[in-house]
Parts: sequence; C-alpha cells; structure tokens
Amino acid sequence: MNTLPLRPLPKSGEALSDFIARLAFANGYQAYELWNVLNKGIGAHESVLSQALNGLALPEFSGPICSGIEIPVNSFGLKSSDFTHLYRRWCPLCVELEPWLRPAWRLKISIACASHGVHLLERCPRCHNSPNVGEIMHGVCECGVVFKKVLSRAPKKQVELMWALQASLLDKAVLPLDGESATLTTQQLVRLIFYTGRFIDGPTLSKPGKIRDLESLSVALNLVTGVSILLKGWPGVFWDCLQKYVDNSPGDMSVQRVFSPLYHVIYKDLREPAFQFLRDAFELFLLDHWRGELCGRHRLFSEVTVSGSRHQGLAHIARATGRGRETLKRLVHQDWLPANRFSRSEKREVITIDRTKLADFIPDASHFLDLRSVSRLLGIKRTRLRELVAVGIILADMAPRWSTRSHWHFRRSEIDRFLLEIRQLANSYTGVIGSVTLRHAFQYWHLKTHELKDLLQAVKEKRIFISLSEHGQFCDVAFEEKKLHDWLSQHRQSTAEWISATTAAKMIGLKEQVVYELIAKNLISADIESRDGRIFKRISSTSLERFRREYVSLAELAIQENLSPNTLLKKLNVVPVSGPKIDGGRQYFYRRADLESS
Ligand SMILES: [Zn+2]
Ligand SMILES: [Zn+2]
Repeated sequence: MNTLPLRPLPKSGEALSDFIARLAFANGYQAYELWNVLNKGIGAHESVLSQALNGLALPEFSGPICSGIEIPVNSFGLKSSDFTHLYRRWCPLCVELEPWLRPAWRLKISIACASHGVHLLERCPRCHNSPNVGEIMHGVCECGVVFKKVLSRAPKKQVELMWALQASLLDKAVLPLDGESATLTTQQLVRLIFYTGRFIDGPTLSKPGKIRDLESLSVALNLVTGVSILLKGWPGVFWDCLQKYVDNSPGDMSVQRVFSPLYHVIYKDLREPAFQFLRDAFELFLLDHWRGELCGRHRLFSEVTVSGSRHQGLAHIARATGRGRETLKRLVHQDWLPANRFSRSEKREVITIDRTKLADFIPDASHFLDLRSVSRLLGIKRTRLRELVAVGIILADMAPRWSTRSHWHFRRSEIDRFLLEIRQLANSYTGVIGSVTLRHAFQYWHLKTHELKDLLQAVKEKRIFISLSEHGQFCDVAFEEKKLHDWLSQHRQSTAEWISATTAAKMIGLKEQVVYELIAKNLISADIESRDGRIFKRISSTSLERFRREYVSLAELAIQENLSPNTLLKKLNVVPVSGPKIDGGRQYFYRRADLESS
C-alpha cells in the first residue's frame, strides 16, 4: 500500500477524474500513471485511494465514471457522453478562491460561471492551447496569459440557466417562466437544452437533439444561447417561432406535419410531466393561431385544448348548427361563410370554420326578427318595410336560403340601432310636437319611400326637425305641417320627372312663350296631360336636359362673348336652327355641334 507524499484534500462532489488529475499533478505524475502506481491489484479501489491519502475517509465524488477506477460516482442521472472528456473548462475566478475544478464544469452544457457571471474558459485565448491542471490552478498559461484577465461577461439569461444547472446538481433546477416555473432535474435540464437549443431556428430546424461536437465550448454556447432566448419573455419567442412554421406551410392542416420536427420533440422526446410547460404553451398557441381542427384525434393534446379550440371541421359545425354538410360546403365555396380551406391534393379539401364567428353568419333565431315582427314594431306595412330595405334605410340580412323559411332576416341589433337613432334625432329637437305624422304623410301626402330617404337625410342634417312621443313608433314620428309641406314640394319640384312649361321656362331662363315655340318646333319634346278636365303640356326633365346639352341661344352666347347679339350674329359663320330670319321664332338658337365644327 502506497501513501503519497503530497496529499491535496478531495472536495465533496468533485469529479473523481479531476481529483485524480490534481493528485497526480501534485506528486509529479501524469493522471494515467498515478493509478497504475497506486493500484497493485489487491484490495478495493476505494481503500487504495483512501490509503494513498493516509487513511482519509473519501467524500462523495461526481461523474463521469473513470474507466479502470471502480469507485462509485454521482453521475446525476447523466450519460457518460453528457460530460466533457477531452478539454477542461474552468472559471479562473473560482479557482483563485479555491484551487479545484467544480463538478458543473464537467457538463458539456456548462458555459458560464454562475457565481461570477463570466464565460468559462476552455483554451488560452492567445496561444489556443488547452492548459494542464497545474496551469489552471496557478491561473497563468505557459504563454504568460493571466486567465482571470481575459474573461468575458455572460448575459444574464445565460447566467440564470447556469444557476439552475448548478442548483440541479444538489437538488432541482427551477426555471422561472412568465410568472410560473418549471422544476427540472439535471438530466431533464440537459435534455431541454439539447433538444430545444435550436428551436429558434424555426422551420429550418432539423434533427433536434442530435448535436455534433458538443464537447466544444462554442457549440455548447450556441445551444445555451438559443434556450436562453427561447425562455426570455416566455412564451413570446416560442410563439413567434411557431408562427414561422404556420407561415411556412399555409395549405397543410396536419399539426404534426406543419410543426415537424418540433412537434416530435415536445410530445415524444420530452414527454415527461416536467416538460408540460412546452406543451401548454404550444397548445395555447394553437388555440389562438391554428386554423385547422383540433379534435379527439389529437390524443396527445389536453382536453382543455381540444374543447377550447375555435376552429372546427365541417362535421362538427354541421352537428352544432343542424345544417347539412353539403349546404355548409356550398356556402363556404360561395363565400357566404368565412372558412379556412386546406387542400393537400385536388380531390381532398379540408374546411374548418371559426365557431365563434358562426353567429354572424348563421342566423340564430334569437338574434333575428322576421319581416312581420319588424313591420309590427315600426308600425308600417310590410310592403313599405320592403321598400325601406330596398332604398337602404334599414339593413336586412338577405341571408342565403338556409331552409324554406322566409329569407328576410333583420338583425335585432340593426332594428334597435335604427330606432335609437330616430329617437335621438327626435330628442335633439326641443320645439313643440309636430302635427303631421309619418303615417299621415304616407297615407294622405303620398310620401314615397325614396322621398323618405331624402327626408331622413334632411333630418340628420338638421334642415328639418322631428318629434316623437315617449312610446311612439317609427310611424308616429311627427313634423311641423308647414315645414314638411314646403320641404316636400321643393323636393318634388327639383326631382320631378315631369315639369310644366312654366317651370321649364324658369329653369332655363327663357320666356314661357319661347318654350312653347321650342316645343312646337320639336326642339324640346313634350307630351299632353289632362288634369281636372284641362289640358297641359308637360316636359320630361331628361328632354329638357337634352335641349340644354344640344342647343344654345344667341342671347346666352352674346353674354359669354361680351358682344351685342346683333354683332355676334353677323360675326358667326353658322346658320342658326331657329330664329326670326329662319323660321320666324322669337329668338335665335344654334346647335352647339355646328358652332364647334365651324
Ligand atoms: Zn467563477
Ligand atoms: Zn496561452
């Protein structure tokens, strides 16, 4: 049995291989030589090491397992490949405090010192050599670099992950996540970083969990950075990343395909309850942003997710609304019903519909009123109500033919809105209640529906006022008799289809007699109307308009040219169509086309 001359004390939890390396260095051996010197093949390995340390009781060592040395180590449930084997990582500031290699530094995903908030070293930044244990313990490279002077600060989120990692070695890691937290063992934290470290790549992610060359600090740093970004502001970044998958395959409705390979990671590779936070965030995203159907087929999803999903397939919607699938499909194809359509092939199309929006498109009896009820509510005839819809005073839902039911539907809210607007207009008027109601005007003044439309517009513009008693219906809206009468006759005059020769003369600024002459010469067309046994000539407004467009009087031209009519008459090289010297008419008229071509 050998007792070594120099015996540095092993630290509780120190990696066995790191302690052997320290012990060998102190006594001038290489690590592999030392064990051969100590172990003569007799006695248990624990007592061999204890003897070498002069009978010291050994503390608990940590992983990885040392090949050839049968002393149990705590591997934290990790595989040998989760530990570094080729290069050492270390924090020079920790080593300066106590010269030994901390167990966390042996993990491949260790990239920073939690206590000092700096990135670990793996090589000398100047000569790029991996220093030996002695150089690390002394804090100086053989090239002269002082390690503690070449450190870089690690971002807060990375340091937090390293805290969690360090805590997990003693107990469990707690990851804070948007007000909640996830509790993980070392082994779970390592797998989380392996598998989700490249999630932020989005749809270009391939073979997650298969990381080449993780022994290299820079590769590990990339992964940890990826996870720290993902967890920062959880779950926002994760959702952004999921959205990229959705945008990447808009026509596909299979969750598994669209989110591959991420889906496999969170439902298979990381299926333990500790990783539920990943699935919760994923399913929450689906509820809001996934346009495909989530149903019982998605056995891996929580029940809450499936039942809370807004988008449902046609079969579901058909059952819920009592409409046939074919009817619904037709409505979707005719753009009556907004829907999401997924087609992987020409033949097969999958349709989903947002059930929360259904009410807007499929009449729910309680939200709608039929023609009869609305006509009773407003106190007007059904034919009149149809006209109100036709001129756009009231909106009706010309719903597609859902069934054999009357397809006149009025949204209750639309009728309420209309009545409220009328009442507000009436309330804004503080004068006396008018003496003529709409009912009266319809019946005795033959108020037309298109006139009502302009009348309501005039009311809105406060050109004419209405009043309404407290329990009055729409037909009880009242006007001041004279005001309504004046408005109506003025309105009728300006919009009338037929006008008298007198009105026409006023409108075009000619003497009435001249208008009669023009009618006689057929320059203005008119027809005969008999009223109260008397004969009148009446002129259609379009005919009058046509006359204005085609002809112009000498008098009008003279004003424009600032000449006397006689001077202009001599100057113009165009023959008038009518006038004293042409056909004995009172005034000269020219055809505008003749003037333009001269
Ligand atoms: Zn440190
Ligand atoms: Zn160096």
